[in-house]
Amino acid sequence: METSRREFLKVAALGGAAATAFGFDLRPAYAQLRELKIARATETRSTCPYCAVSCGVIIYTLGDKAKNVTPQVIHVEGDPDHPINRGTLCPKGASLEQDILNERRLLKPQVRRPGATDWEDISWDKALDEIAAWTKKTRDDTFVERDANGKTVNRCEGIAFTGGCTDTNEINYLFVKSMRSLGVCYLENQARV
Ligand code: SF4
Repeated sequence: METSRREFLKVAALGGAAATAFGFDLRPAYAQLRELKIARATETRSTCPYCAVSCGVIIYTLGDKAKNVTPQVIHVEGDPDHPINRGTLCPKGASLEQDILNERRLLKPQVRRPGATDWEDISWDKALDEIAAWTKKTRDDTFVERDANGKTVNRCEGIAFTGGCTDTNEINYLFVKSMRSLGVCYLENQARV
C-alpha cells in the first residue's frame, strides 16, 4: 500500500478507529507513546478543584527525586480508579494542566485602590494589615444589632464574602466559621460538603 507521509499522519491522527487502516494495529504504539511520556514520573492522586463534582485526577511530575531540580508537572489526567469519574474529565477538568502551568498565574496579592484603574502589587503583610483594618471599620460602620421589629439579628450587612472553586473543604470551613463569627450573612463558597 503506497502512502504519503501526509496521509500517514492524517490517518494516524484519527486514532483508534483508523488504527487498522494499514493492516496493523497502531493502538499499542499509542499506548507505548503514553507510557514514554509518563515514564519515571511521580503519580500524585488529587481532586479536580473546579466544581463540586470533585472528579479524581492523577498529576504526573518529573524531577521530584533529583537534587537541585525543581519538580515539574508534565501531565494531568482522570483517575481510572476514582469512583466518581472513572478516569473521565470534562473539558474544564481536562485543562487542569494549564491551570498549574500558567505564566499569567498570580503569585502575590494585588490591590485596586478606590478610583484606580490598575491593580498594584502589595506584600502579604501589608495585604493582611489592610484587610484586617478595612474589615474592622466596615463591620463597625454597618453592624445591625436589631432589625426594624426590634428582633436581635447581630448581622454585618456591609461585607460579602465568596470562596473560589479552587478552595478546599477545609479552607471553606474556616471561611464560613470566621465570616459567621463576624455576622456576615452574604456568604457563598463551593465547599464539597
Ligand atoms: S472534571 Fe469537570 S466535572 Fe469533574 S470536578 Fe472538574 S470541573 Fe467538575
